[in-house]
Parts: sequence; structure tokens; C-alpha cells
Amino acid sequence: MLSTMQDAPLSIAQLLRHGSTVHGGAEVVTWTDAGPQRRSYAEVGRRCAALAHALRGLGVAGDERVATFMWNNAEHLEAYLAVPSMGAVLHTLNIRLFPEQLVHVANHAEDHVIIVDPTLIPLLAPQLPQLTTVKHVIVTGDSTAGLEAPEGVQVHTYEALIADQPTEFDWPEVDERAAAAMCYTSGTTGDPKGVVYSHRSIYLHSMQVCMTEGPGLKQGDRALAVVPQFHAMSWGLPYAAFMIGASLIMPDRFLQPAPLAELIAAERPTFAAAVPTIWLGLHQYLEQKPQDISYMKEVLIGGSAVPPSLMHVFENEHGVSVLHAWGMTETSPLGSVARPPADSEGDDRWRYRYTQGRFPASVQARLVDDAGEVVPNDGTSIGELEVRGPWITGSYYGVDAADKFDNGWLRTGDVGSITPDGYLTLTDRTKDIIKSGGEWISSVDLENAVMGHPDVLEAAVIGVPDEKWDERPLVAVVLREGSPATVDSLRDFLSDKVAKWQLPENWTVVSEVPKTSVGKFDKKRLRSQYQDGGLD
Ligand code: ADP
Repeated sequence: MLSTMQDAPLSIAQLLRHGSTVHGGAEVVTWTDAGPQRRSYAEVGRRCAALAHALRGLGVAGDERVATFMWNNAEHLEAYLAVPSMGAVLHTLNIRLFPEQLVHVANHAEDHVIIVDPTLIPLLAPQLPQLTTVKHVIVTGDSTAGLEAPEGVQVHTYEALIADQPTEFDWPEVDERAAAAMCYTSGTTGDPKGVVYSHRSIYLHSMQVCMTEGPGLKQGDRALAVVPQFHAMSWGLPYAAFMIGASLIMPDRFLQPAPLAELIAAERPTFAAAVPTIWLGLHQYLEQKPQDISYMKEVLIGGSAVPPSLMHVFENEHGVSVLHAWGMTETSPLGSVARPPADSEGDDRWRYRYTQGRFPASVQARLVDDAGEVVPNDGTSIGELEVRGPWITGSYYGVDAADKFDNGWLRTGDVGSITPDGYLTLTDRTKDIIKSGGEWISSVDLENAVMGHPDVLEAAVIGVPDEKWDERPLVAVVLREGSPATVDSLRDFLSDKVAKWQLPENWTVVSEVPKTSVGKFDKKRLRSQYQDGGLD
């Protein structure tokens, strides 16, 4: 029997219409050289219509790709909403990709238009002649200074292009399963691969971002989106904010601790999202220049494991609660979120909060061992995490990657255990696990333990070849300036925190752990530095 329910497609245009009317008074704030620039969602709605008319005027039709090469700002938000709403496909280019990767992904996605921030022209311009499908470049603001158009490419300014356009658009009805946006993985562990989100997947994912058991974004929140809009769609915040009527605070290119602290003081966000390294940096800065940030009630941290020490520091010293979450570009990205059970108390709550958390009803998760067998969720059995659900990718765009899927489940490349009540604890990425004498050592556990030392600013652990044990851990550690800590004292510190046979004998003190294009510890680079003799 069929249901009697209406079959109304879920779409980005619906989010745009809703946010710009019902929540028309919410605002997007962009941090600039001259301080905050404010724009109401009502105005964003009008500018989205104008942008869509302008893009149609440039010949954008059907599912053509409109790429962005931008910081987090109001114009990027407009592209997020207008491009999919008109039926085209938004492609968020990672501004930190290597030049050859940038050329590869823009050509692979067949980008037709690129919207670029003026400050990023120097990064894009040298590659433009090799972008074979690009016909138009739109520079935000009102100047194209510094950009010479290669043959066959027209250059425009954003403001001139939208200036005289109508401020309403008859948004077409789009199939909810059609492509809305695409994002390539940041390539931490291989070539960037394209993930294509649908209107439906983004809509459902936005609802999850607003669930109280999830990140719990709500009406009236002021959400600071530090996580770049090119990194897994800024973790879905822009769309969720339009859905629920939360304001957005966009840091543009001001991502260093000092301007972030200034922005936080000025705009008083109530919610924020970023990878752990951003919060490590902010905390170090605040130690030197204390300031109240406690109105930022909850910060969503994911992208790599959050050291428990960081959670405690933010809670105890800054009055900010850390919400740990796991996800991937391939999972839109929200997977699991570490909210403790309602009836847990004290240390028990902390134990749950350290984990990667629980999956929502919409996302199924299982663990599979090396033999391809599903292992039980008993809290101790270890396996590779596989997930499936309506906002999990089922393939990669234009490449055959059958090895990344297992009968309809996405193989995440992450290894861990799940408790009977659903809490995921990740031990490692498959590629990062250290295999020592037939046993596994979790690089994440070691990093968390080392980062618990008060003088350690950053610590990353990789496996290095060892004649006797195959592999042993090597710790690259950044110490606080003037710290008296030595390798021996660090080892002593670890001695009651990890099993004796796991205690690393290889240490190197570095000035900074290399970071990936999205700010995670770059273990691939650490390994090659070690192989080249650049690490002792
Ligand atoms: P990339 O794969 O290029 O680094 P993603 O941001 O999509 O880009 O990375 C997803 C990966 O990040 C996951 O597969 C996992 O290894 C890691 N990750 C994300 N969140 C967490 C977390 N909370 N704890 C541990 N690892 C995490």
C-alpha cells in the first residue's frame, strides 16, 4: 500500500526561501580589515536571486559547475545557496591544494565559472591557463586588479555583475536526488576524490546539525564557522543556519589566534566549529592574553581526534564545552557526535565525551575485521568502520574506487571499537596504526597521552621501521618555549599512561608539526621528512 503523504522534494531553494524570509533578521557577519561587515539573511536572499540571474546571464545552465575559490564570507554563503537553488552545482575548491591538484580537480569537475576572493587571485591566477573548462572568473568585491584573463576566459567583478539584476528569482523545482554541491577530499591519504552531495542529502544532513542529540544548532545561535567552506561544506553549518535561523560569523582570512580572539570578543559567538589545531592555537594565545570567551557555550571539534587534555582546558579555564564529533567529506560530514547518555554522571560523562560518539538513527555503522567479517559492538573488538545512510556517499565522482566500498557500505579507513550502546572509539586510521612485534599501537592514544603534558603544545606520532619489531612509534613534539622538559621526563610522564611495551623510544623535538590543507597533523609529510633524514 502506498502512503497518502505528499511527495515534496527536499531542496536547497527551500532552505534559501525559508531562511531569507522567516529568519530574514538573522545575519551573516564577515570579518574584514575594517572590522565586521553585516548582512541580513533577507538581504542575502535578494543577493542570491541577483547572483542566479547574473550566472544565467553568463550562460550557466543545467547542472553546470560553479566553483568557489574563497574564504568563509558572505559572498561564499550566497554562492552556497544560489548555485544549487538555480539547479547548477556548487564546487568548493580547496584553496590550499597543491597547484597540480587544483588543476586536476577543477578540470575533473569541469568547472565552468570560478568565483574568487581578491586576496586569493595570486594563488589562482598562475593555474588559470590550465583550467580547460573555465569560461568566466568572478572576483568578489569591485575590482579585478591583479587578474589577467587568459584567452577564452572573461573576468567580472561580483558586485558589478549582480548590481542591476532582479532581486527575486523563480527557483526551479529540482529533483531532490540531483547534484547540488561537490567537494573533493583534501587528499591527506591519496589523490583528492570528488564527493557529490544531493539536495536531499544536504537537507537531511542540515536537520541532523540542528538535532539536540547532534550538534544542536538552534535559532538565535551565533555560529562561528572557522572550519573552511571548502572543507566538507563547513561541516554543513551554512545550510543548517539558514534552516534554523542561526546567524553565521565568518572569519574570512583572519584565522590566526589573535584576530580570532578579537573577532570572538566583538561578535560573541554562542557556537563554533573547527579542527583541534585551531583550538590548540587559540588556547595558547589566551594563556598570554586572557579574555572571556565563555559565551561560546559549545564548540564542535572534529576532523581528527580531540585530545582529552584540550577538552578539559576549554571547560575548566574558558568555560567552554567541547563537543567531539567524527566525520568525513564522504559523510557530508556529520557521522557520530559524543553527547553522553542523559543518565550518566561525573567521570562517566567525560568517558563518553572522549569517544568519537554515537551515530544518529539515519546513519548505520559497523566494524569489519581483516577477514571481511563483521565484529560485535562489544566495546573491545576492533575493526574497520563502515557506514551507510542517506548523506553518506555511495561512490566517487568519475572514478572507479570499488575498494572503498563494501556491498553498499562506505569503508572509512578508520579503525576502532563500538560499545553495545553505540559509542565509537577510534584507534587510528588504517594507514597510521603502528604495528610493533605483531601488536598494534594506536598513534592517537599516544598523541593524546603526550599532549596531556602541560609543556607540550603539539604531538604527532608515526610508525618508523625497526629491525626487531618491524615498526616502533616516533613522537614529533612541540614544546612550550623555555620548557625544561626533556625526552626522559616526557617518557617518565607517559610511563603510567600507556603500556610499557608501547612507550616510545624515538622522539624528536620540532618547532611545528606539519599540517594538511585543512589543518590536521600531516603524518604523510612527517613520514617523508623522516625518510629524508629531516627528523632525527
Ligand atoms: P581527509 O580524508 O582528506 O583528511 P576529511 O576531513 O574528510 O579529509 O577526513 C576524514 C577523516 O578524518 C576520517 O576518516 C578520520 O580519519 C579523521 N577524523 C575525523 N574526525 C575525527 C575524530 N573525531 N577523531 C579521529 N579522527 C577523525
